Amino acid sequence: MQAEKKINSYQTMIGHGPHVLCPTCGSQIHFVTTTAGKKMPCQLQLEYGDRKKTLVTNSGRTVVKAAENMLGYQPHWGFCKR
Ligand SMILES: [Zn+2]
Repeated sequence: MQAEKKINSYQTMIGHGPHVLCPTCGSQIHFVTTTAGKKMPCQLQLEYGDRKKTLVTNSGRTVVKAAENMLGYQPHWGFCKR
């Protein structure tokens, strides 16, 4: 519950792009600007790592196998239905 609260407060703090529809599958996504200056399509839900998933953090860093204390968005490509 505490973790969920933290995620919600971070979600309001962290600036991210407006919600758009993925042209391929129609899911709601948003773009996070990476350190390379690219716009990465990401899932809307901010979440913690589990040492398995890839997360794009607030600072735009893409972290593979993100640790449990890292917060970020999962790239949409793993979820795209087509
Ligand atoms: Zn998609």
